[in-house]
Amino acid sequence: ATPLAVARGIAAAGGRGIVVSGDTVFEETPDVETVVFDKTGTLTDGEMAVTETAVADDASEAWDADDLLGLAGRVERYSRHPIADAVVAAADLDETPPTASDGTPAADGGQVTASDDAESSRRAGDGVTDVQTHDRGLTATVDGASVVVGHPALAVESGYDLPAAVEETIESARARGTVPVVIGRAGRVLGVVVAGDDPRESWDEVVTAVSADGARQVVVLTGDDERATARFREHPAVDRVFAGVPPAAKAETVDRLRNEGPVAMVGDGSNDAPALATADIGIAMASGTDLATDAADVVIVDRGLAAVPEVFTLAGSTHRRIR
Ligand code: ADP
Ligand code: MG
Repeated sequence: ATPLAVARGIAAAGGRGIVVSGDTVFEETPDVETVVFDKTGTLTDGEMAVTETAVADDASEAWDADDLLGLAGRVERYSRHPIADAVVAAADLDETPPTASDGTPAADGGQVTASDDAESSRRAGDGVTDVQTHDRGLTATVDGASVVVGHPALAVESGYDLPAAVEETIESARARGTVPVVIGRAGRVLGVVVAGDDPRESWDEVVTAVSADGARQVVVLTGDDERATARFREHPAVDRVFAGVPPAAKAETVDRLRNEGPVAMVGDGSNDAPALATADIGIAMASGTDLATDAADVVIVDRGLAAVPEVFTLAGSTHRRIR
């Protein structure tokens, strides 16, 4: 192995916004047999927007669409999920709850309690307490009532029954490739807010290039339901789609795929960190200030998906020089 070839490869990559950490990355990358793409925020732009707000029939006397969005937004301010950002924007709320002491909402997986003195008086400002972020949404107490905002399954787990008309809204949202967010309050489902994002430009060319005529298996991994993945499943270069995989299980899925050969995982540095760390080669998409990418071997900075195939071509040419 010539250290000079490796150094040159790393420098060439760096010039293209591909930051490689570790001398062995280029050596291992050409052996990758499976490339796993996270869907939301990676193959799609993650720029979620609310596309529909549907109030449940038996809540419609007391709640209109704006009330529903407002309630969902007050809770979603405590999440950093792209869906949460869309709901908060649609509700016309500031991104940051008035309660956060340092100006940042609670991180996903974090927990906000109202136990702390100075904190809790500020928290009283927005009437939202006991916020718990889950893999699939949030639960909280809002103005004294327990509220759930998230995946229909989270609402069901929290003890809510989904009325038939709500189920229909959920199904039609999914059939369109959008994501239904159920809002329940005090034991009753109030309605559904639907969010959607668009696939990134030229995502299809990227997966085609990465598959290298089938030399590598391409896998799409998502927490969304199967129906939201139709356009990815139908693409000829996509070999498998794993849908309904909660964030905590993504690393396990990557680990299982490793039984078939070396795996590269492409995802975002924060939500997908465990899966990136589990993969043989973790490739994180980063932009601007969002460089929380310790788990990744390769960080793509402000380049977007188009740089992913370049990781493989650069590694290939560098590796040939090493040998
Ligand atoms: P992906 O794998 O597509 O990146 P995630 O694993 O981040 O998706 O989330 C899985 C699903 O959980 C989402 O599609 C959504 O239904 C639900 N979910 C997660 N966080 C939130 C939230 N803050 N608000 C509403 N729904 C959420
Ligand atoms: Mg994600």
